[in-house]
Amino acid sequence: IPGRTNLCSNHSVGTPIDLPPSNTLDIRSSLDSLNLEGYVSFDDVHNAAKDFGNIYQSRPLAILHPRSVSDISSMMRHIVHLGSTSNLTVAARGHGHSLQGQALAHQGVVINMKSLRSHDIKIYKGRQPYVDVSGGELWINILRETLKYGLSPKSWTDYLHLTVGGTLSNAGISGQAFKNGPQINNVYQLEVVTGKGEVVTCSEKRNSELFYSVLGGLGQFGIITRARISLRPAPHMVKWIRVLYSEFSAFSKDQEHLISKENAFDYLEGFVIFNRTDLLNNWRSSFSPNDSTQASQFKSDGKTLYCLEVAKYFNPEEANSMNQETEKLLSELHYIPSTLFTSEVSYIEFLDRVHIAEKKLRAKGLWEVPHPWLNLLISKSSIFDFATGVFNNIVTSNNNGPILIYPVNQSKWNKHTSMITPNEDILYLVAFLSSVMPNSSGKNSLEYLMKQNQRIINFCEEKNLNVKQYLPHYETQQEWKSHFGNKWETFSKRKYAYDPLAILSPGQRIFQKIT
Ligand code: FAD
Repeated sequence: IPGRTNLCSNHSVGTPIDLPPSNTLDIRSSLDSLNLEGYVSFDDVHNAAKDFGNIYQSRPLAILHPRSVSDISSMMRHIVHLGSTSNLTVAARGHGHSLQGQALAHQGVVINMKSLRSHDIKIYKGRQPYVDVSGGELWINILRETLKYGLSPKSWTDYLHLTVGGTLSNAGISGQAFKNGPQINNVYQLEVVTGKGEVVTCSEKRNSELFYSVLGGLGQFGIITRARISLRPAPHMVKWIRVLYSEFSAFSKDQEHLISKENAFDYLEGFVIFNRTDLLNNWRSSFSPNDSTQASQFKSDGKTLYCLEVAKYFNPEEANSMNQETEKLLSELHYIPSTLFTSEVSYIEFLDRVHIAEKKLRAKGLWEVPHPWLNLLISKSSIFDFATGVFNNIVTSNNNGPILIYPVNQSKWNKHTSMITPNEDILYLVAFLSSVMPNSSGKNSLEYLMKQNQRIINFCEEKNLNVKQYLPHYETQQEWKSHFGNKWETFSKRKYAYDPLAILSPGQRIFQKIT
C-alpha cells in the first residue's frame, strides 16, 4: 500500500508516513461538515494506524465514530460523491486484531465500529433461537449476554475479544468448526452498508448474493452493521482433556476419527510441542489439569510431541453419563497411556481461556509485541507431507509461540461464501502463532520469523501441496488471483457490483481505489 510502513524495516513506530496530499484541507473540511449523529476526528488517527500484528503501520486521515448506521451510509455516499477528486478509502475497524494491516486505510477514513455498539444485544428464544447484534460488538459480550438466557452461539474463535464484523469477514474458526462449521456458517441475516452507501438487509433468501459475498469477503463488499447469529442451549460446564502422541500419523488419525463421529466431543484442536518441559501450557490457554504434578513431571526427552485437545460440554446433573461417554471415546484412541490430563471448568472460562493468558502477558508488557502469524488450511491429502517437511526441517522449536494443528469437516461448511479453501472434505487448520519478544535476535527476531513463514509457503508451493492461506495476506493482485483461482472472476464481479470504486478495506491489498 502506498505509504504503508513495514516495522521490520528501519522506520520507527510513530514516524509520520508521508506528506498529506495538497487537497487534504478541503477533504478534511468536507468530512467535518457531514451531518452525523456521531463525529469525525482527526487528532486521534494514531489509534487506528496499527493492528495486533504490530508489523505494518499506516495512518488514516480521519476516524469516523458512528452512532448510527446512517452515519456510515452518509460517509460512504459522501466519498462516492467526491469520486476521483479524492483518494479516500474506507476501512471498518473492529477490534483491530488483524495481523498484516488489513484494517488500515492509508490517508483514508477508518470507521471505529465499536462506537456503533449500542448495547442492544437482542435475544430471541424459540425453536431456532438467535441473537441480533451490532457488527462492532465483541464476541465476549455476546457470550455474557446470551448466557443470561441459557443460550450461546455455536461456533467460536479461540479468542473472544474480536468483533462480529471482523471475524465474519474472514470465517471464525476454532475447535467447534468441525461440528458446526465456522462462524460464517452460523449467521441467519446481515445488515450491510455497501461501497455505494446503500443499507441492505440480506440473508440466504433475500439479497443472497450480497449475503454470501460479505461472509468471508475480507471487508470488500460492504460494512456489516448488524448480524443475526444462531444460538444453542448453553452448557454449564466443560470437561477439558489433553493427551499426547509421539507419532504424527497416530495423532492425526485419532483427530480424524473423532471428527467423523456425530456425538463425540464438542470441541477438538491440537498442537505441536518441540522438546519442552512446560508441555501442556502455552500463552493461549489457562489449562490446569487435575493432576498437575504428573503433567509438570512429564518430559518429552527431546522428541516432538503432538497434543490432542478435546472438550465435552455438560451440565452438573449429567456428569456421570458424560464421564462414561468420555471414557469410551478415549478408549478408542492411541495416545501415550500415561499422558491423559483432564480438567473441569465453567463454559465461559473455557471459551474465554486466551483472555486469561492475555492478562498475564499484558502485565509483563508482552502482549503488544510484533506477531508474525501464519495461518494455513491444508487438505487431508497433503497434511502428512506438510508435517514431515515443515516440522522436521523448517520449524523446529516452540520458542516463539504455539503451533496449532487440527482437522475440520469442510463437507459441513456452506460452499457459497467468499471464503477460499482447498477443495477437499477434510481440511487441517495449521496456525503458527509467533510473538517477537523485546530485544529478540537471531532465530527469535521478527525478520527471521517472517522469512520462516515464507519458507513454509515456498515449501508448500515446491511440493505442490493443496494449501490456502487463512487470514490471507499478499503483496500483489496476481497473488490474490492465484489465491482465488477460478473464484476470482466471481469475486471481482461482485466487487464491481457492490463497491465499484474499490473504496472498502484497502488494507487487504486486493483492489486499488479507482481515481
Ligand atoms: P479487524 O482487525 O478490525 O478487521 C479485520 C478485517 O475485517 C479488516 O479488513 C476490516 O476492514 C474488516 N472489518 C472489520 N469490521 C468489519 C465490519 N463490521 N464489516 C465489514 N468488514 C469489517 N481467527 C479465527 O478464525 N480463529 C481464531 O481462533 C482466532 N484467534 C485469534 C486470536 C487472537 C489473539 C487474534 C489477535 C486473532 C485471532 N483470530 C482468529 C483472527 C481474527 O479472527 C481476525 O484477525 C479478525 O479479523 C479480527 O477481528 P477484529 O474485530 O479485530 O477485526
